[in-house]
Order: sequence, then C-alpha cells, then structure tokens
Amino acid sequence: MPHLGTLVAAVASYLQARTNKGEWLLRIEDVDTTRRVPGADDAMLRTLDKFGFEWDGEVIWQSKRSASYAQALEQLDADGLVFPCTCSRKLLAQTAVEQSGIYPGTCRSQKLPFPHEHAVRMRVPDNTISFDDAIIGEYQQSLATECGDFVIKRRDGLFAYQLAVVVDDALQGVTEIVRGADLLDSTPRQIFLQQCLDYTRPGYLHLPLILDHEGRKLSKSDGAAELNPDRPVKSIQAALRHLGQQPPADLVKAGTVDVWQWAMENWSISKIPTPDKVMKTS
Ligand SMILES: [Zn+2]
Repeated sequence: MPHLGTLVAAVASYLQARTNKGEWLLRIEDVDTTRRVPGADDAMLRTLDKFGFEWDGEVIWQSKRSASYAQALEQLDADGLVFPCTCSRKLLAQTAVEQSGIYPGTCRSQKLPFPHEHAVRMRVPDNTISFDDAIIGEYQQSLATECGDFVIKRRDGLFAYQLAVVVDDALQGVTEIVRGADLLDSTPRQIFLQQCLDYTRPGYLHLPLILDHEGRKLSKSDGAAELNPDRPVKSIQAALRHLGQQPPADLVKAGTVDVWQWAMENWSISKIPTPDKVMKTS
C-alpha cells in the first residue's frame, strides 16, 4: 500500500500539471527488477484511481524499456563518456575516497566492450552543475567532488535508476518534474546525463519530505503513514496540509470530486514549505 509520502508527490505533481493545463503521466519505476513486488504496480494504479486521480496516456513500465536504455548507453559510449568498472564491492569499500563513497577512478582507462563482468560508470567532468528549483531556488553540486563517476549500468546487467529516468523523461516529453527532496542530490547527475544525450532540461520542483520524530524520511514499512484506501479524502487533505495548502475542515465530509475541485481552485506553490533537507546540506 502506498504511504503518505507517495501521495504527497502524487497530489503536488497532479495539481501542478492540471492547473498549468499540462498532462499528468504515470510511470512504474521498476527498473530494479530484483526489488519488484508482484502486484504492487496494479495495487498502486487501483489506489490512484480510488483517490480520484486521472492520468493521461499510456502507463510506462521501466522493466520493459531496457532496449531504449541500451541505446542511450551506446550513444554515451560512442562519445567516450563511459567506462567499464570491474571493482568489487569490497575494493570500493576500501578505496572510496575517505569514506565519502566517491569513486577513486580506478578503472577510468578501461574501454567497452569489455570481456569480464563489469558495471558501467559515467566519467564525470570537474565542473559544477546548477539548476533553479521552483521551491528551493538555485541548487549546485560539483559532480567530481560530491558525487564522482556514477554507475549507469550495474554489474548484474540492470540499468541504474539515474539513466532510466533521464531516458524516460525525454521519451515522455516531460517538461516539469515534481518529486520529493530525497531526490534533490540526484538531480545534477540527471542534468549531466541530459546534457550528454542532448535532451531538453525539464523544470524541477522538489517537495518537503514527511519525516518521523527523529527527522528521518518515513519509509514504506512505517505503518503510521500508510494510506487507508477507504478514506481517500482524509488522506488527500493530509497531503494538502503537508504541502502548505489550507483545505477547510468541513471538506473532510466531501467526496473526492469536491476535494479535487477545491484543490485545483486553491493550489499555490508559493505556500509549499521549503524542504528541510536543504537546510541540513547548506
Ligand atoms: Zn572500477
């Protein structure tokens, strides 16, 4: 069952798309098939439907899209931007620069095709990527010192999330990405991939996360934030309040149609609180 954090991102992206006369697209991000839970995708679609969301076009499953990811990888390789990495997990743990997890560049001189089992990493440049987030404002990251050469295809042959989302955003013609601030520090990597693949950069809007009492992001296993599909209005109201919107209390007696109508008429991104995460990292 989806939890409140998922709903917050769904509500914000839905309202942002609808109030700007845009389309709201659905994508099942199951690129990591080793973590796939059978039936979870159908349950998610049923829940969204029950909550009154209406999506546009076909739903995309990342698990069916590896041919497109392979094509993107070929293009990056043709431009000399990737290298095969044969470092074991153990070696990486020992050598990653001062425990920061930054790849030390061990395999940078190796080239594809490569006969032995390997991951594929992007060779990152020594420059700063910056972008304007609709809520946070300017956000900067040095790929070389804060991120390092990152994996776009795993040793087990699966494509990494970073590559998959960038390819899919381009394929789906996504113009604005609305998502939780836990993905904020992935965004510069994704912008770098967009630049390398000649894709258009979409706009970004990162939302405040739902945190537990100790300031950690609520996880899927946390029962407290689990949604009750029989009480969609109550959950949508909670999501709206988290997003700084102020739905009237008596709206809880309304149906989903009325709640959505109120939300569309009153949606204001200037009321969304700035994500806490930014304050911690700056
Ligand atoms: Zn390596």
